Amino acid sequence: MTNIVNVVVYGSAGRMGQAVVRAVLESKQARLAAALVRPGSGLAEEPLDRVFGALPRDVDFSTSLDPDVPCDVLVDFSGPNSFDAALALALQRRAAFVSGTTGLHEEQHAALQNAARTIPVLWAANFSLGVAMLLRMARRVAATFPDWDCDILEMHHSRKQDAPSGTALILGQAIAEGHGARFEDKAVFTRHGQIGPRKLGEIGFASLRGGDIVGEHTVIFATDSERLELTHRAGNRDIFARGALVAATWIAGRAAGIYSFDQVLAPE
Ligand code: NAD
Repeated sequence: MTNIVNVVVYGSAGRMGQAVVRAVLESKQARLAAALVRPGSGLAEEPLDRVFGALPRDVDFSTSLDPDVPCDVLVDFSGPNSFDAALALALQRRAAFVSGTTGLHEEQHAALQNAARTIPVLWAANFSLGVAMLLRMARRVAATFPDWDCDILEMHHSRKQDAPSGTALILGQAIAEGHGARFEDKAVFTRHGQIGPRKLGEIGFASLRGGDIVGEHTVIFATDSERLELTHRAGNRDIFARGALVAATWIAGRAAGIYSFDQVLAPE
């Protein structure tokens, strides 16, 4: 018999946090142990049905994690400003840490590596299964056609804080890996003015913002008279929440270390 995984959701009043709470409440493998909101939130100590309607409500929103509450996995979708506190809480509780927060600084990525000495850690810029497959495909096309030009186009809702999206960046890293190059040497984030011809191997980014678009990514491979475009469109946030929950149940009880979302998927 598999154990039910106790999940604590950090940032549970947010767009993604709510989708994760809903996915946990509907899951048979996981149990919602706590739904954490930011200090001062109007939802603090309110029952979950204020937001989630008729779903089970033995848990209230809270601003801190009661020491008696079991926590196997802490799932964070709170944003880069609260990420450090989320990771510190997972470390304090020796819980596995699953985070989808994007726009992290280098030091925050380094903190994830450090934490992985003590707890299991899985960070992914995108928890969609389709995007996980897109990453594999983009890496493979880049390795097969290293002399084709490659740019990445992304579009997101108008409230998105960071650009390019975290997903666009990891797509760029996958393409650089396919090229056998260093991403930092090849990424081109802006093109403006008399920039001259494109250099072989550069990986260009274009970010569009508007409306309520959840997330669209296209990787364009182009050579003379031929173009290959790989596109993923996210219809709603539930796909990321589902993936994060799959990751949370997969990582619970594993040894300390860094894990990737690709490892959670079936082998190639
Ligand atoms: P959001 O602003 O709707 O939600 C963030 C929530 O975190 C807010 O409710 C905020 O009050 C809460 N919060 C802030 N500080 C807190 C604290 N100290 N304790 C508890 N809660 C706190 O944002 P969103 O659209 O849900 O996105 C959140 C993050 O997830 C962003 O970084 C976004 O880019 C990322 N994201 C990742 C994926 C993925 O698949 N990896 C998918 C979508 C969004």
